[in-house]
Amino acid sequence: MAEEMNKFSRELRDDDHFHDECGVIGIYSPGDTGIARDIYFGLHSLQHRGQESAGIAVNRYGNIDYHRGMGLVQEVFSDDRIRTMQGDIAIGHVRYSTTGASLACNAQPLVVFFKGGAIALGHNGNLVNANILRDELQDEGYLFQTTIDTEVLAAYIARNIKDGDIEGAIAKTMKIAQGAYALVITSGEKLIGVRDPLGLRPLVLGKTKNGYVLSSETCNFNLLGAEKVRDIDPGEIITIENGEISSMKFDFGETRKTCSFEYVYFARPDSVMDGRSIYLARHECGKNLAKEQPAEADVVIAVPDSGNVAAMGYAEQSGIPFGIGLIKNRYVGRTFIQPDQKMRDISVRLKLNVLKENVEGKRVVMVDDSIVRGTTSGQIVRLLKDAGAKEVHLRVACPPVTDPCFFGIDTPEKKQLMAAKYSVEEMRGMIGADSLGFLSVDGMKDAIGLGRDNVCTACFTGDYPMELPERKDK
Ligand code: SF4
Repeated sequence: MAEEMNKFSRELRDDDHFHDECGVIGIYSPGDTGIARDIYFGLHSLQHRGQESAGIAVNRYGNIDYHRGMGLVQEVFSDDRIRTMQGDIAIGHVRYSTTGASLACNAQPLVVFFKGGAIALGHNGNLVNANILRDELQDEGYLFQTTIDTEVLAAYIARNIKDGDIEGAIAKTMKIAQGAYALVITSGEKLIGVRDPLGLRPLVLGKTKNGYVLSSETCNFNLLGAEKVRDIDPGEIITIENGEISSMKFDFGETRKTCSFEYVYFARPDSVMDGRSIYLARHECGKNLAKEQPAEADVVIAVPDSGNVAAMGYAEQSGIPFGIGLIKNRYVGRTFIQPDQKMRDISVRLKLNVLKENVEGKRVVMVDDSIVRGTTSGQIVRLLKDAGAKEVHLRVACPPVTDPCFFGIDTPEKKQLMAAKYSVEEMRGMIGADSLGFLSVDGMKDAIGLGRDNVCTACFTGDYPMELPERKDK
């Protein structure tokens, strides 16, 4: 029953979206007695990237203390435990399982020992050849403690360390590890950040008063008193040691492919990623959507919260006033009520309520960030019509999602993706909207503004930026 309730609770939180992935953070701040507390606060700001487990590892002169557990950041750590975690360098992780089950043993950071030391490692992303690499290690007698691909990375790095050269071991591992990874690592007296050769997953460097921070997103920089220095480049290993930064960059002959879904949905709008504000990119998506998919209407509303910024862009471009049409209950993800069929049927009503005053008798443009399974869109359209909306025109601020992600985003199987099976007109009919329009791939790429060739759009096009050796037909 507990498992079923957890599943239902996750469904309520995640409904018709790709699931979040993971968030990583590392802080270098020698002599700072509050370093674990800062990681804790930093993780709080990354909580949207993963809610299943959280962990912190602190490092003093190579001695690593760590604490991990299942649940939200505030559930995993007590004040007392945070106070006892003392170090000069610390890393933290929040996780949503993309490979490996939702088990306590799979929580991160992982800590592994090698001849002469230990490393703690936090990983955001997914290796596409993890099983091949895992088999090789197992054939050599390596006994795995977890079911996640991160342990494969950690094991290869530990195995490759010669004479304490961790960066050399990471570089060797990067040559064989295929897929997406943003890593924070601490070992000896170093904090190390690593980004995969395509830059699929984000990692950014900030400067604090006492040192440096590496983070998946910049949304925690104000909280930590950090100024953004720069994004870590694709294929880069950055090391902070003795207060100095050094960097190794590898040219794998690849073109940058930042994940476009970060801009459309995952990342917080107050983050800046690869030099581009998530807020501005999302706003521009809404504007481009209005240009490509206009509608005759009286009001533009958003599916909150992730559709808010695009809806404002749509309203600005179209000249149709923006209004609040749906109110979100923010606490529904923590509801523990027996998940019977009746509960499933009212799950959308639990999450969203219509503000009748703004939709009754009106032609409504409803802007959503994406349609994945299409399960909730129809229910929301019905809510609006039940409240008296004359017409509902659904506009989606990204292209139709047709293919699964293999790079660290938990997506449904291809057969569960609505746009993989149906035409736009068929989807419109099933959802019950008066019209349905999606942003084009080029419209989204232009809104993101990193250059049309520099973003991954595989979940909209099926054009994956690398070979997928382990692809099971999802
Ligand atoms: S397939 Fe989609 S979700 Fe996955 S990395 Fe590419 S753009 Fe992002």
